[in-house]
Amino acid sequence: MHWSLAIAKEIVERRKEKKHVLATGITPSGDIHVGNLREIIIGEAVHSALVDMGVDARLIYVADTFDPLRRRYSFLPGEYEAHVGKPLSAIPDPEGCHSSYADHFLQPFLDSLDVLGIKIEIFKADEMYKSGMYVDVIKEAISRREDLSRIIEEVSGRQLPEEWMAFNPLCDACGRITTAIVKRYDTEKEEVYYECECGNNGAASFKAGGKLAWRVDWAARWKILGVTIEPFGKDHAAPGGSFDTGKRISLEIYDYEAPYPIPFEHILLKTKAVEGTKAKVTAMSSSRGTNVPVHAILEAVPPEILKHVISRVRPDKHIEFNPSLPLLNLIDEYEREIGEIGRGVAGKIPFRHFITLVQIARGDFSELLNVIERSGYEVREENEEEIKGIGEKARYVENWLRGYAPPGLKFELQPALPAEELKSLSEAQKKALKLMAQEIKEGKTLSADDWHDKIYEVASGTNIEAKEIFRAIYVVLLKKSSGPRAGWLLASLDTEFIRERFEAAARI
Ligand SMILES: [Zn+2]
Ligand SMILES: [Zn+2]
Repeated sequence: MHWSLAIAKEIVERRKEKKHVLATGITPSGDIHVGNLREIIIGEAVHSALVDMGVDARLIYVADTFDPLRRRYSFLPGEYEAHVGKPLSAIPDPEGCHSSYADHFLQPFLDSLDVLGIKIEIFKADEMYKSGMYVDVIKEAISRREDLSRIIEEVSGRQLPEEWMAFNPLCDACGRITTAIVKRYDTEKEEVYYECECGNNGAASFKAGGKLAWRVDWAARWKILGVTIEPFGKDHAAPGGSFDTGKRISLEIYDYEAPYPIPFEHILLKTKAVEGTKAKVTAMSSSRGTNVPVHAILEAVPPEILKHVISRVRPDKHIEFNPSLPLLNLIDEYEREIGEIGRGVAGKIPFRHFITLVQIARGDFSELLNVIERSGYEVREENEEEIKGIGEKARYVENWLRGYAPPGLKFELQPALPAEELKSLSEAQKKALKLMAQEIKEGKTLSADDWHDKIYEVASGTNIEAKEIFRAIYVVLLKKSSGPRAGWLLASLDTEFIRERFEAAARI
């Protein structure tokens, strides 16, 4: 049984609700990374398990757009120092392409969810506050300040300052949401009166005039949105942590039962910078951390694979994500056991084989079509979808090669015989190449398997080891001593080209 079904069954058994709301949420304070994606994938998996069981369930995503910018991150220009403390929705886009800082990081992620085929209802926290959805929970939090601070102190064991208030006003002078202190409040008028560090004194409405402290916000949101299930990083699940506080706040302040928690482990990214990698991708050289934006990884990894990487592992187990060779092995396994990647003929060609084809075609799309046909696949050139499918898979392969492939898988078809390397070949190796050229001369077209068999046949005929012949083939074609499966390589190339190259090598 898939873990998501086991969780869905347990939820149905344990919870009294007949309708479920499964909430996820991420703060768009920077690029949204693969590590963050786990929360959504878990949510989606449990959501579809529930729906499959006939349960009424919604999947939502709350973007914390009203959260303040905590500090000026290294990717931000110096002048962003002035924006620290302001809500993300009120800060300009650092690259000027979206309507706000929050949208700049949120939109690419939402686009990625589309690519991943994840359907989810989106809520933006700043819009929720502006709509007045929060007014009642804010009123409750303000009038029960003492109960709230007692709960937080009891659960977390930390002391809150005397003037602590669960509501952080948005200062109308400096625009920050982190520096004003509530001095008085009026629950009739639904406003607080604050003093800000900047020297400003003002009034702030319960509607969009500030936001709840986050531990309180989390619990308040459960009530507002009717959340019954929520996956979150295991750090929040630590004893005395934010989920423990949330549970009590939810029950004691809001009379609402906290959602069924699904704590999950981290994704550890295992990778090292590869030469020629794009700058954004090289930045993720640490062995810990998951700082590859989802949209960047989706340029090189087909969506079904990225989903598979995450959904195949139970939430309580950590995931080691290595987008280099281990990812390729996982793709092999997926294509063997689960399904095709890509549509039309592209789906029939294994990703690993595509790596060879794409490198032979060297960025020339019509040559790629020829290479595909030569390697034994029929391309219906008049079929637009088929051609598009090939283009898509080729793009994944090219980006994967550029960003993540180990050097051993990369090759360059040599336009001429590599003279220096040729000297390392023995007479027997050259003779083997000559015999293979002979086959082509006789007009035979050989498939990848035929080529493979032929190499062994020539090996026994010339009394050298097959691996010596493989090496000779790689040297004369790729100027390397190793390469992709020789059968595939040879079957993908123009036979006349191979014949000339092998004969020329044998002559020297
Ligand atoms: Zn932008
Ligand atoms: Zn201020």
